[in-house]
Amino acid sequence: MEIVYTVFAFIFGLVFGSFFNVVGLRVPKKESISTPPSHCTNCQRRLTLLDLIPVFSYIFLRGKCRTCHAKISPIYLLTEIITGLLFALTVWKLGLTIETVVALLFISLLMIIVVSDFAYMLIPDKVLLFFLPLLALGRIFSPIDPWWDSILGAVVGFGILYLIAVISNGGMGGGDIKLFFLIGLVLGTLNTLLTLFLAAFIGMIVGIIVLKVRNQGRKTPVPFGPSIALAAIIVYFYGEAILDWYANLF
Ligand SMILES: [Zn+2]
Repeated sequence: MEIVYTVFAFIFGLVFGSFFNVVGLRVPKKESISTPPSHCTNCQRRLTLLDLIPVFSYIFLRGKCRTCHAKISPIYLLTEIITGLLFALTVWKLGLTIETVVALLFISLLMIIVVSDFAYMLIPDKVLLFFLPLLALGRIFSPIDPWWDSILGAVVGFGILYLIAVISNGGMGGGDIKLFFLIGLVLGTLNTLLTLFLAAFIGMIVGIIVLKVRNQGRKTPVPFGPSIALAAIIVYFYGEAILDWYANLF
């Protein structure tokens, strides 16, 4: 039965991933999520159901618009597949519990942020404010142990990022700071600190790669949101294992 749920979760994730693309690209531009309906950004043709089937339409159309043949960014496809895989991983590991809902909400938040941050170097307040009450409610019904560690984690996560922003004089975006409040709420104090370390490490590697690929001397800003999202998801599922491993080193 588990395998059936997992496959369903994957398909569910593909569809939601497609929706997260729309939300992540439209909300920062203050556009409505529902109107206008999805359209080709090049020829404005309204997309039909056939264009909107996640992954398959991309493969069938070979990544091009049916009418004007403009290239469709593979980022859309990537968002769908990653969301699908993460939804499947969630159901595989957690089954069908209240915690599953928390995890799916957390992943949804992070995927939307990755899309926005990639496209505009921006983490929209609207998205954070939408998920804040949902995740808080999730942590009331599916608390971590001890329950108050959610509140402490949120305050510590926000506080440390705020301090870094002050010290680095704007090196940290306001969206990143607020995002860490939500991460603290979900993960608790210790795992939030672990997320911060891991995000900094991933961000550093990404920064080096980008510098090499672009081959530019000048530093070009790289969005930090995707590194935070990746770190948060790794810690959500494997934080305990990482901390155990670390503790065993001594
Ligand atoms: Zn087109």
